Amino acid sequence: MRLDKLLSECGYGSRGQVKKLIRSKQVSIDGEIVLADNHNVDPQLQTVIVSGKMLTHRTNVYYMLHKPAGVVTAVSDEGNRTVIDLIDPSDRRPGLYPVGRLDKDTEGLLLITDNGQLGYQLLLPHKKVTKRYEVVVNERVTAADQEAFAEGIVFHGGTTCKPARLTILSHGDEESRVLLDISEGKFHQVKKMFLSVGKKVTYLKRLTMGPIELDESIPPGSYRSLNEAELEQLK
Ligand code: URA
Repeated sequence: MRLDKLLSECGYGSRGQVKKLIRSKQVSIDGEIVLADNHNVDPQLQTVIVSGKMLTHRTNVYYMLHKPAGVVTAVSDEGNRTVIDLIDPSDRRPGLYPVGRLDKDTEGLLLITDNGQLGYQLLLPHKKVTKRYEVVVNERVTAADQEAFAEGIVFHGGTTCKPARLTILSHGDEESRVLLDISEGKFHQVKKMFLSVGKKVTYLKRLTMGPIELDESIPPGSYRSLNEAELEQLK
C-alpha cells in the first residue's frame, strides 16, 4: 500500500500532514529514509520507523472465500471442517471471522476478516445490505411466487420478510433456477422463504453481499484478498 495511506491510517494525521512528515526525513523503511509519499510499502513484511519509533500498526486482512458445500461457517467446530480451516496458516490472523453465515450445504461468497467493524457494517438489519443468491428449487417457480416474494413472504411461524425480488433464469417442470435478492439475513432465510410457497431448495449459492461480488475465477474452496477497488466499496 502507499506509504502516506499507511501512516494516515496509523494515526499520523491527514495525507497532507503525513506528506510533511515524510519530506522532513522522519520516515524510514527497512533502514532507508524514504522521501516519496507514494512509496509502496508492505507493513506485514517491512519495518517502518517514524520519528524513531517502529510502526506497530497491522493492517486488517479481508478475504473473499468461495465457500464450497460441506464446510461449516464457524471459527472452530468439533468434527467439521470450517471456513477458517480453508485459510492458509500463513494468512491467518488472530480474530479472523466469517462475516455472516452460510449453511453447510450452501456455496458462494463469504467474506472473512479480522476487522470486527465490518461485521456490524454489513450485518446490522437497518443497513439493509442486499444479498443475491442463485437458487435451484424442486418445482416450477410461478408468477404468483414472484408476487408473494415481492409483497413479503410470511414464514409458517408468522415472521414476515421484507419484499424480495425473484428473477427466473430457467424453468423445467421439476426444477427452476432463479436469482433471489434479499436485504435481510434471517436464519435459513432463503430455504424458509421457498418452503413458505411449498418448494424445496436443492442448491444455494451466494453471489453478492452488498457491493462485493463473488469472483467466479476463484475455485470453490479457495480465496483471495479483496482488491483496492473492493475495499473502497466497503468504506
Ligand atoms: N439462506 C439460507 O437458507 N441458507 C443460507 O446459507 C443462506 C441464506
